[in-house]
Amino acid sequence: DQSIAELDPDIAGVLDRELARQQRTLEMIASENFVPRAVLQAQGSVLTNKYAEGYPGRRYYGGCEEVDVAEEIAIQRAKDLFGAEHVNVQPHSGATANAAVMHALARHGDKLMGLSLAHGGHLTHGMKINFSGRLYDIVAYETDPATGLIDMDAVRELAVAEQPKVIVAGWSAYTRQLDFAAFREIADEVGAALWVDMAHFAGLVAAGLHPSPVPYADVVSTTIHKTIGGPRSGMILCTEKWAKKIDSAVFPGQQGGPLMHVIAAKAVALKVAASEEFADRQARTLEGAKILADRLQAEDTAAAGVKVLSGGTDVHLVLVDLVDSELDGQQAEDRLHEVGITVNRNAVPNDPRPPRVTSGLRIGTPALATRGFGAAEFTEVAEVIALALTGGADVETLRARTSALAAAKPLYADLQQY
Ligand code: PLP
Repeated sequence: DQSIAELDPDIAGVLDRELARQQRTLEMIASENFVPRAVLQAQGSVLTNKYAEGYPGRRYYGGCEEVDVAEEIAIQRAKDLFGAEHVNVQPHSGATANAAVMHALARHGDKLMGLSLAHGGHLTHGMKINFSGRLYDIVAYETDPATGLIDMDAVRELAVAEQPKVIVAGWSAYTRQLDFAAFREIADEVGAALWVDMAHFAGLVAAGLHPSPVPYADVVSTTIHKTIGGPRSGMILCTEKWAKKIDSAVFPGQQGGPLMHVIAAKAVALKVAASEEFADRQARTLEGAKILADRLQAEDTAAAGVKVLSGGTDVHLVLVDLVDSELDGQQAEDRLHEVGITVNRNAVPNDPRPPRVTSGLRIGTPALATRGFGAAEFTEVAEVIALALTGGADVETLRARTSALAAAKPLYADLQQY
């Protein structure tokens, strides 16, 4: 029974180097976070050995008495946290959760109306070559070019004209809160089901810092690994009316055996998400994003053609518009990488540059908030980003400043990975 270092030094090396990379650099990919050690422990546990097709108390395999406890705890914690009538914690990821939602709410060929991918929607909300775009008839709403916001009158007009079976509200790149009550009204008016994908902002909802979609939506899907900061996976919340359909859409509709080690880790993350410390972290996440949005709208960045979509943020991320900048999205991403900050380039609406290059950046604060960053550290990191994007300081100087921030807020100190 060898340790991974003995059995497979190649992969042990990856684990070591990846830990060092996470410790050394500043992680600002908006969809990433750092899970607590307890989540790593649950996810790296013997629960990975267990087959448990079915649901607690109704399994198709023997020996499920312990994993049943984990799944029941995860379900109860999610219900309590979000006030949901019914919860399914089995989706392996956000994308499989969304596939199950569509499976439950519609038949192939039915019309799905979601936010356009080019305007901040997710692949699973109707991208052409995604399952959603291939199996369903897609109509997309967009953001208003003048404001960068979703205009609910335009959404209503499109829904009335197109009569979709399902309306999805949710995003991967948007910086304002959605009007769930207005979406509900529109869905009722056209007889559509309302599905909210809160993958990005679920942690803010859990902390009470963002309106909850749960009272308005028929079904809410989420990931657990973005603002919630749990294991990479998905979850579906719904009203009692949809419970049976959702459960059978997940299993046996979409998946086989659930990942019980991940479900146990979800339970741990959902316990953390009910804590005071978690609410404080989400507040710092929002504060950091606002500090960054403000800094990137100062005179020097404006002069360099750097703009902020929607003029600010109410959530955990900032969308940088580089249409008028000399730097394109790829170059800006590379520049920040050089100074020790990890972000992803992101197309802006009506982007003139090709999709692999783009004219935007998506910069998020959840992982750094988890690392302990507050106003002072976010002010410093915002300054470094502004200087990097405007060429206001050399790379060596900026790298030293990010290294100092990383050193001041150590990550996974003394972690034994194996
Ligand atoms: N839904 C939204 C809104 C997302 O942003 C994402 C992830 O980027 C997903 C779903 C998919 O999650 P996963 O990557 O776990 O499949």
